[in-house]
Amino acid sequence: MNAPHRIDGRLHLEGVALDTLAERCGTPLYVYSRAALEAAYRAYEEAFAATPHLICYAVKANSSLALLNLFARMGAGFDIVSGGELARVLSAQGDPRKVVFSGVGKRVDEMRAALEAGILCFNVESTSELHRLNRVAGELGKVAPVSFRVNPDVDPKTHPYISTGLKENKFGVPIAEAPALYRTAAALPHIRVTGIDCHIGSQLLDLSPLADAADRVFALVDALAAEGIALEHIDLGGGVGISYRGETAPDLAGYGRVLAERFAGRRETLIVEPGRSLVGNAGLLLARVEYLKLGADKNFAIVDAAMNDLMRPALYEAYHEIVEVIARPLPKRRYDVVGPICETGDFLGSARELSLDEGDLVALLSSGAYGMSMSSNYNSRPRAAEILVDKKEIHLIRERETQEGLMAGERLLD
Ligand SMILES: *Cc1c(COP(=O)(O)O)cnc(C)c1O
Repeated sequence: MNAPHRIDGRLHLEGVALDTLAERCGTPLYVYSRAALEAAYRAYEEAFAATPHLICYAVKANSSLALLNLFARMGAGFDIVSGGELARVLSAQGDPRKVVFSGVGKRVDEMRAALEAGILCFNVESTSELHRLNRVAGELGKVAPVSFRVNPDVDPKTHPYISTGLKENKFGVPIAEAPALYRTAAALPHIRVTGIDCHIGSQLLDLSPLADAADRVFALVDALAAEGIALEHIDLGGGVGISYRGETAPDLAGYGRVLAERFAGRRETLIVEPGRSLVGNAGLLLARVEYLKLGADKNFAIVDAAMNDLMRPALYEAYHEIVEVIARPLPKRRYDVVGPICETGDFLGSARELSLDEGDLVALLSSGAYGMSMSSNYNSRPRAAEILVDKKEIHLIRERETQEGLMAGERLLD
């Protein structure tokens, strides 16, 4: 059982009781299930088994070294968006030859590091970036493998802040302009054109826009092949959604079948870049209730986790299910669950029916993706510790930050 579940009213993740874990390690605390992470990765392997493929985990969803190492051991590649993420992948024993480098603003030093490491591909997002990469590779006496991120202009039907594949957005190059870019690239001495990529958005519950994007990309790949520009891989990005509040999870196996049909008889390798769908439902955030503030119009449960620990509700009005860690026969009240940060936007959930007392623990479910990786030190709050549970075993995979650590790089004036 790798989803949070109750035994005698106490919430468990795998074989670990979360109240005991919170006593031992403190709160706020991120907790991940190894079994859930591995099951999510295996679901991808199975869905795409019929097609030659590489699963490149999108590091930004959760960049914990232990998680990266776990996926690397299962054979994963990685989708990175910075030199910092490359350093993490290398520290976690990830294989650089399975790394794709996305992002609109790659710096010269980041390009150099990736060329030195020997990554699989640069996912290039503009003409200027292409010329910069050609120059940097030339200076190192190397040839850079390149894919262009094309913008297939399909509507992913998700939140506007996490939609990336429409014409008006900063990512990628318009698909109509791609052939000219490929011709330019093919003529550059320090560039080798190897692939094509797209990524249309995140938290997609209906995967048909992904299939539509794939069709537009295939049409372009075939047109390029007719001109003598043959590609080695087709990278369809990430974006597969997860269930946060009982939504039906997308049909990954069905998507795999759709792609298997499209890839039958083709020579390219399929790359996918899943982030959220590998880690989102494998983690939760534990918090303790500091105060209950009951009012005529609203009740607040003020907890010790805040928007700096889990930014998604404040940033996108995202929903995370909130449950009591110990189920007790107290009357339920409707609460806004908020943090102690001095911002009205510091909420974790609104109008939740919960039975709570001061000092109780709550769990914010489905917090494995874009939780810890988006956390900050706002209000001088040290970031949470992270735990990986493996059956009954507990692994501290990241220590809680200290106040001292937070101030370590700072100096008073002379
Ligand atoms: C963020 C991102 C992903 C991962 O998206 P998910 O929705 O988490 O699967 C994949 N590729 C690129 C280029 C990204 O920016």
